[in-house]
Amino acid sequence: MDQLITGIHHVTAIAAGAQENIDFYAGILGVRLVKQTVNFDASGVYHFYYGDHDGNPGSILTFFPYQGLVGGRQGKGMLNTTSFSLPTSSMDYWQERLKKFDIAFKKPVERFQHEIVIYFEDPDGLGLEFVFNDIDQRPGFTYGHIPLEHSIRGFYSVEIWEEGYERTAGLLTEQLDHQLVGEQGNRFRFAATDSPGNYVDIICSPDSLKGLSGSGTVHHLAFSTPDRASQEAVRLKIVKRMLNPTPILDRNYFTSIYFREPGGVLFEVATAGPGFAIDEAPEALGSALKLPAQYEGERTALEKELPPINIDIKNFK
Ligand code: ZN
Repeated sequence: MDQLITGIHHVTAIAAGAQENIDFYAGILGVRLVKQTVNFDASGVYHFYYGDHDGNPGSILTFFPYQGLVGGRQGKGMLNTTSFSLPTSSMDYWQERLKKFDIAFKKPVERFQHEIVIYFEDPDGLGLEFVFNDIDQRPGFTYGHIPLEHSIRGFYSVEIWEEGYERTAGLLTEQLDHQLVGEQGNRFRFAATDSPGNYVDIICSPDSLKGLSGSGTVHHLAFSTPDRASQEAVRLKIVKRMLNPTPILDRNYFTSIYFREPGGVLFEVATAGPGFAIDEAPEALGSALKLPAQYEGERTALEKELPPINIDIKNFK
């Protein structure tokens, strides 16, 4: 049978301010705001999606910005670092750009011989990395304020800290079509497709504190499955592993199931389609608030309740 899981679909995190979030991701990092909508489970909160030009799986970072929410804590049972992929020839450009916007970053380190990694954080303390490499073939996206050759290509990897890696590894390899593709110290790298955008690194970190949810932390990690039939097949495997998945939920741009992995991280399996062009033209993605049918009747009230945002990023040259 073909693979049911093909790689990473998206990462969803929690922020404390909507405008700060747009300024940082669309403005400074230059990833495309591909959708402004609301949290389908709590409609008084925005849901922003950032990605490449089309919002392809493996590039999508999404946020629930809860205005003024208290900060969380990185730790065990949490996805602590989300890494973006860039060519090695962009290292100087990005170090200069981070300095220009007063973003502190750690000294570059080498990982797996062919990656140079720089760690930094977003305004809420969310763990991020640039992984400079020469294996990524994706074209990236630019608004024009960052040269295309230096643009973010999508994710490179995500990093989950666990008490031990075995039970999560078992789920990834037995139910989610992943294989162990690398090992370095306490880092165990898994992938459903062995390419940038799909690497899931499990860090054995028994001595760290447990992570606490709040702004600046990741809410869940979503894996990509081709269609409804493959999603139903994965769901059955998750049921058999006794991880109690949700029913299939309609997220407009994909359908989803959710379940908690044994180490505590919330996992989702989302369909690759129909994608973000279902309710606005590809060139207009992210330009207006889009609501699912069930909230369209509340549009006027929601537009009053949600904080005003400015998506113009021309001041971030
Ligand atoms: Zn999700």
